[in-house]
Formats: sequence, structure tokens, C-alpha cells
Amino acid sequence: MSKSIIQDERYCYLGSSESMLDKHHIFNGALRKKSEKYGLWVYIGHYTHLNAHQKDTDVLIELKKIGQRMFEEKYGHDAFMREFHKNYLDEDDEDAYLDLGKEDFFA
Ligand SMILES: [Zn+2]
Repeated sequence: MSKSIIQDERYCYLGSSESMLDKHHIFNGALRKKSEKYGLWVYIGHYTHLNAHQKDTDVLIELKKIGQRMFEEKYGHDAFMREFHKNYLDEDDEDAYLDLGKEDFFA
């Protein structure tokens, strides 16, 4: 199992729970193997995870944006486009990201 590049410890990324954790691949479907290869996955509490896939799809898109940023910090934007084919970040989000500050955003 690859190490996540998004979180170092084993807890729910969308909460704080440390039990009943699922592994969520940020880019799924055909890209799931690449998510695994590059450590683009997080732990999410089982029920939060189910809910995200069934109803709260916004949160899955937010995770894709976070995944893209973390990947690009390591490998750059061109590599992201080559591997994942789609840009999830637009200029508005970039501003929001800068306002938040990196530490807060990834806390
Ligand atoms: Zn999932």
C-alpha cells in the first residue's frame, strides 16, 4: 500500500474519528490505480464515506482539488494533466486557497 501524500496519520480526514475507517481513493474509476500509486488517498470514517459517495458529492470534488494541489507540489502541473487529464482548480479556488493559508487548509 502506498503512503498517502495527503495525511500522515490514520484518522478520518473529514472528521477526527480513528475507528471504522475506509480508504478513499481521490481519483476513482479508471484513475484508481494512479491514485494508489501516487498516494492520493485518505482515510474517511465508514459512514461519512458512504454518505459522501451517495449524497455529498461536493466533498469528493473538494478532495480532488486538495489531491491535485498536493500532487502538483511534488510533481508539477504538467505531470498532473498528463496523469489525471483534468484540471480541478480554477482561479477562484486558487484565491480561496491563498486566503486560507496552506497550514490551515491542510490542518
Ligand atoms: Zn471513496
